[in-house]
Amino acid sequence: MKLAVFNSKSYDKTFFTQNLTAYPLDITYFDVSLNQQTAELAAGFSAVCIFVNDIADKTTLDILKAGGTELIALRCAGFNNVDVQYAKQIGLKICRVPEYSPEAVAEHTVGLMLTLSRKFHKAYNRVKEDNFSLVGLMGFNLHNKTVGIIGTGKIGLAVAKILTGFGCKLLCYDPNQSEQIKAVGGRYVELDQLIAQSDIISLHCPLMPQTQYLINHASIDKMKPNVMLINTSRGGLLKTDDVLQALKQKKIGYLGLDVYELEANLFFEDLSTEIIDDDIFQRLLTFPNVLVTGHQGFFTEEALNCIAQTTLNNVITILNGEKTGNELF
Ligand code: NAD
Repeated sequence: MKLAVFNSKSYDKTFFTQNLTAYPLDITYFDVSLNQQTAELAAGFSAVCIFVNDIADKTTLDILKAGGTELIALRCAGFNNVDVQYAKQIGLKICRVPEYSPEAVAEHTVGLMLTLSRKFHKAYNRVKEDNFSLVGLMGFNLHNKTVGIIGTGKIGLAVAKILTGFGCKLLCYDPNQSEQIKAVGGRYVELDQLIAQSDIISLHCPLMPQTQYLINHASIDKMKPNVMLINTSRGGLLKTDDVLQALKQKKIGYLGLDVYELEANLFFEDLSTEIIDDDIFQRLLTFPNVLVTGHQGFFTEEALNCIAQTTLNNVITILNGEKTGNELF
């Protein structure tokens, strides 16, 4: 069985190789992303493994199908980058890794909150230069703050558990309410109430047509002044331009992003010697109260190990005509 891994990095190879011994798979690693231009590379591979910024649109799926591919194995949870209905229509199977380590993303989320509130990023640089002045480093306690969690699935729940320990009050919104959230003290409210009453808003819902641009000019208007907004979910949940205006107007007091609307052109690559022509992204980086990480919420040893194991098991099991429960349909 032949598997083509697109968008592969050294760490993908490391974790696949460590876990491969149990699986009879012949893996070829491609550095390039999967898209319409590169899909022909997959000719002759029964399975193709892709990540968050590979694009499996209709044309790409047609090329894969024509080349003999039977299965697309996402090595991530989200699948907004795949035309799932079309894949189903042409008989391509799709699977994903629905859960690898919600705690990895949750801990990163809370890390962004703490870094923004206590200004660790600034303190680190100051102390390196023997500048021990505290002026400008004033923070605020998370204790007793109201945190709004939008999307209370696996990651939202893991965030809620951590924040309960900090003594935060939790307002939650999700069309599907979770008893586990209620058990840790989360209170479900309408989205508008969450947005209006939260000191910190953290996004943990998937990107879908219903959630695209959930955070826009109108929703930002309803937020508390100086609100902290955290997005470790998907960039398209924010209308970045509107967020930029709100930062300039000092309505948003803190912004922590691990994802960005147009990240496919930027993230996971070393662009330090290149000219970046995304003016919105570059402007975001100029604010002292904005912290951006390059989609690294998932990036822990535990998570990568689980992703590799689950993906390899998905591929072998599904190509053998059996089910894993990780199929999209
Ligand atoms: P999950 O499926 O367990 O939970 C998603 C929750 O969102 C569900 O409870 C669902 O009911 C809810 N939801 C659906 N529509 C909603 C809406 N309109 N408003 C509010 N909630 C809604 O998923 P998860 O494992 O918790 O992951 C959440 C998201 O995190 C993923 O969709 C993915 O985009 C993102 N993610 C990011 C990273 C990273 O490295 N930064 C890693 C993994 C996942």
